Amino acid sequence: MPELPEVEALARWLRPQIVGQRVMALEIHRPLVFRNLLSHAEPEQTLVGRTVRDVTRRSKLLLISLDDDFWLATHFMLTGNLAPCEPNARPRVRDYYRISFSNDLTLRYHDLRGMGKTYLTDDLARVPGMADLGPDALDPALTLERFLERLRPHRGEIKGVLTRERAVAGIGNAYADEILFAAGIYPFRKRTQLSQEEMARLYDAMRQVLEARLAVAMESIPRTHDMHRREGLNVHGRPGEPCPRCGAPISEIKVARRPTHFCRQCQPGLLLRN
Ligand SMILES: [Zn+2]
Repeated sequence: MPELPEVEALARWLRPQIVGQRVMALEIHRPLVFRNLLSHAEPEQTLVGRTVRDVTRRSKLLLISLDDDFWLATHFMLTGNLAPCEPNARPRVRDYYRISFSNDLTLRYHDLRGMGKTYLTDDLARVPGMADLGPDALDPALTLERFLERLRPHRGEIKGVLTRERAVAGIGNAYADEILFAAGIYPFRKRTQLSQEEMARLYDAMRQVLEARLAVAMESIPRTHDMHRREGLNVHGRPGEPCPRCGAPISEIKVARRPTHFCRQCQPGLLLRN
């Protein structure tokens, strides 16, 4: 699933391409992904002719804002991808919609599993999950002090807490593994068991990993246009391979089919379940 770095990289790539451009066409091939939250009109009528004001991101959502406070908010989920295509190319299987702009750029939304969503709305608070989001993990206003405050109500395993959008937004399964590896913290320790020093290390690792991965994604997205391709991760997606720090094989523990990858040597701890 694209997380903060990939969605931010896509937003930064798209911004200079479409800001100031008018929407020329919206073609919905399969209605499942495209959700019109407006009570009136067909989405084509609302969108065509409007000018893009900005392209931003909130957590894992790509936000395209248009004239008159209309928004397109996209959550890519497990397999969604938004990429340029030839304006006249025939839709492929699992293409859900395409949107064309006055500079001849056409974007195609493709989704193998069709679990992603693009919401058309005039009120972002109506986008499911949006109103509950905590501060963004890369928000400059999220100081260490505020980070500690946000995590304080959550007492469970630290990996689960890090991926809780209500606490801090933008981190999913993959980058939680990478952040905990960078901090040298066992993913299943309870938040309440971590010392002040460990929490500070976690905060620094969060900032450092997300910044570094944003740089990687910004190099990769314009080249591959694939938000799911992640190269150069340290532990996530690499069970059995040698830990880049100590060489021990990377471990895997699956909880509810969600894998956690970590190094038992560099991130020592005991799995305690009750
Ligand atoms: Zn190691």
